[in-house]
Amino acid sequence: MSRLAEGEVRVRIEGRDCAFACTGCGACCRIQGEVSLAEDDIERLAGGRGLDRHAFEDRYTRLSANRRQLALTDGPEGACVFLGDDNRCQVYPHRPRQCRRFPFPWTRLEDCEGLRVLE
Ligand code: SF4
Repeated sequence: MSRLAEGEVRVRIEGRDCAFACTGCGACCRIQGEVSLAEDDIERLAGGRGLDRHAFEDRYTRLSANRRQLALTDGPEGACVFLGDDNRCQVYPHRPRQCRRFPFPWTRLEDCEGLRVLE
């Protein structure tokens, strides 16, 4: 079994063992889909932006495809509204749980340059 390099974590994606270490490419923040928000995500993000909850929801969220929760709106060209011109997350300390768990559970290998298939 292949060894992990320093800073890598082992993940299983598409039935294959992979190593993952973020390269900061920003590709995960451009994947088509949505960033769903839990209640605590909204509170944390709103606080981080210096907004009250309702102002944050008005400015940065929309109804999720499942119609049961809110999701972040898209920025230019479908990227996350919080992906900056420098390719960095502008709310990184306050980012949603879904982003904190990356690359679980919605990654496809071709979407992320930080994933390496282990031989
Ligand atoms: S909140 Fe930050 S980490 Fe999450 S998708 Fe948006 S830019 Fe990327």
